Amino acid sequence: MRPPLRLRRDRPPVEVSQRIQLEDIIARLRLHGRAVDEAFLRSVLEFAVEKHGDQKRRSGELFYHHPLYVAYLLADLGFDEMCVAVGLLHDVLEDTRVDRQELGTRFDEELAELVDGVTKIGRHEYVRRGDAQAETFRKLILASARDVRVIVVKLADRLHNMMTLEHLAEGSRRRIARETLEIYAPLAHRLGMSRVQGDLEDLAFYHLHRDEFRSLVAKIEERRRVGRGALDAIREELTGTLGAAGIEAEIGYRIKRPYSIYRKLKKRGIEIEQLYDYLAFRIITGGQADCYAALGLVHTHPAWRAVPGRFKDYIANPKPNGYRSLHTTVLNTDGRTFEVQIRTKDMDREAEEGIAAHWRYKAGRGGSGDDGTQEIRWLRQLVDWQKDVQDPRSFLSFLKIDLYPDEVYAFTPRGDVMSFPRGATPLDFAYKVHTEVGHHCQGARLNGKLVPLRTPLGNGDMVEILTNPSRHPSRDWLSFVVTSRAKSKIRHWLNTQQNEQAIEIGRRALERELGRFRLQVKGVEKQLETYVKEEGLGRLEELFARVGFGRVAARQVVGRVLTEEQMGSGSRSSFSQVVRKILPTGGPSPIEVRGHDDLMAFLAKCCSPLPGEAIVGYITRGRGVSVHSQDCPNVRNLLYHPEREIEVRWASPKDEVFPVSLEIETEDKPGMLARLTEVIAKNGGNIRQIGAETETGRGVILVVLEVRNRRQLQRLKQRLEAVSGVIGVDRKMSGGRAGNAG
Ligand code: MN
Repeated sequence: MRPPLRLRRDRPPVEVSQRIQLEDIIARLRLHGRAVDEAFLRSVLEFAVEKHGDQKRRSGELFYHHPLYVAYLLADLGFDEMCVAVGLLHDVLEDTRVDRQELGTRFDEELAELVDGVTKIGRHEYVRRGDAQAETFRKLILASARDVRVIVVKLADRLHNMMTLEHLAEGSRRRIARETLEIYAPLAHRLGMSRVQGDLEDLAFYHLHRDEFRSLVAKIEERRRVGRGALDAIREELTGTLGAAGIEAEIGYRIKRPYSIYRKLKKRGIEIEQLYDYLAFRIITGGQADCYAALGLVHTHPAWRAVPGRFKDYIANPKPNGYRSLHTTVLNTDGRTFEVQIRTKDMDREAEEGIAAHWRYKAGRGGSGDDGTQEIRWLRQLVDWQKDVQDPRSFLSFLKIDLYPDEVYAFTPRGDVMSFPRGATPLDFAYKVHTEVGHHCQGARLNGKLVPLRTPLGNGDMVEILTNPSRHPSRDWLSFVVTSRAKSKIRHWLNTQQNEQAIEIGRRALERELGRFRLQVKGVEKQLETYVKEEGLGRLEELFARVGFGRVAARQVVGRVLTEEQMGSGSRSSFSQVVRKILPTGGPSPIEVRGHDDLMAFLAKCCSPLPGEAIVGYITRGRGVSVHSQDCPNVRNLLYHPEREIEVRWASPKDEVFPVSLEIETEDKPGMLARLTEVIAKNGGNIRQIGAETETGRGVILVVLEVRNRRQLQRLKQRLEAVSGVIGVDRKMSGGRAGNAG
């Protein structure tokens, strides 16, 4: 028989009380009405015994006792001969020299595939990192199993390992117990196998928190002993009530399992004395109608009052794992509350055994037509199956369908599991890890082997991404990544990249167009920026990008931006007229060009150098030598063409005057302009042009005046700065007019 659950303070909750023989397994299979091919099972067992040879477990017993016990658990749970055979062989691929092919030829292909599946699950290493990670890992196991039987065998394997856990070292014991709690017990729950779930949980509880286990079990026993009389009285009352109404039912009571109670106490932060539903009466009836009839009797019994809000109809609305039952809680006259669970025999078996119960139904049925519908609905709920069922005829065929057809699970080298849509590639993986890892992804290893980036990931693959900082996304990546994250990251990168190229192309196009007027972008930047503002663009680069993408022609931009003077035709601005007056064409030049008396020199308008200032000359194309102040920003650009530089110096001083523009920033006070013109006149400056702009609280006065030399200008500047209300005086060297000088 199956080892019983023992609530003993000093022992694990489930004990291996006997050595299993093949006969025990066969007896169990027969008890559940299974067909048994004794010779087949014997040959499978002999094969396993031979292959495991003298391997021993930590307990010291021969290894083959472990698969034998696993097979027994499977038979006991109601699974068929095939599952039992898989149980017997489940460790041969991992622990012996046998390979999958040998199993296939020796026995059969289906058996070999199932054993292979169990082996593969065992290779996934669970690294503990929070609830989300555990959930993904559980899904990975469900998905990579590809057949529900693989999981069932794995659960039986884990159950036996937990039953014999005390032989392991403390560290492994805790790790395995924790993994059992976080991964395998929830899987058993998912498959509706509540008995296996409870066994796994209690064993893990015992090994992880032994003291708490012991004291809790002691308290449970104590409460049961003290309350036994009252409980029996309630049971008799229930039996009498139902019997009088002609309802046949088995009535018993069950104490919640230790771990289940422990979890509840922890969650609510209470002591066991405050926990009312640690036990439940269970009414097992013949049919579904009797369930509701029994419920009515419980609710209308004069001595009991239903506790509001505690009634749950899991028959009409089964739990996600298929659990069906009616639950209610009633208050007794003595103030004691107790839970009552009402269900049919079938529902009860399903509640205990889950998927195994369905296995047993199948044996007794034809397995075709409508008979399968119930199981299919159940299985669909079980695995949250989203896809429509194509062929609902065979229950077994469903066990082989992907549980998560749309997902695939892969590991990082650290052991984290990540889920992806089916068809995802190492590149999707890289982008999920980090955008930069994706952008610089150069290659990938799947399970240690180099693969092309477009290789689809398989369940349980360990993915290692190779990066190279000089590697960048390429457009063809878009043809094989499947996650929207990877797609959008790649697109974004490509767009940014494209934009940069467009900026460069646009800048060059403008440069070319400006070149026709002997201008450069650098020289007309201010004008371009004005245009950018007028067009509602943010930065100069945006204008370049527009030109680069062809949204606006370079010629159009240049046409709008340049002054007529810059374009070399039409009327001249008033500023240029001022300058012309001072430098009449043909008049004597104030500058001598060394060794080139025949070369005409003119003062660059961008900086208008003054006599005495350090100057440099540049040969222009066909217009003589332009002379700049050495501080002129345009000189820096011209330095790129050193071959055009030419030495110049001021000619002997004459009664010549030179134009200078000053920008005077002032407080916005009345009479400011008058005061300034007075200062300029007093100091011998001759005003040619003057204008004022006011901003909020400030005034900017632009004045073009004539001075004889630098010293005069300096004195003038100092006097102007001394005027009360003047914030600053700047000599203007416009970079915007450099073109004429070049
Ligand atoms: Mn095993």
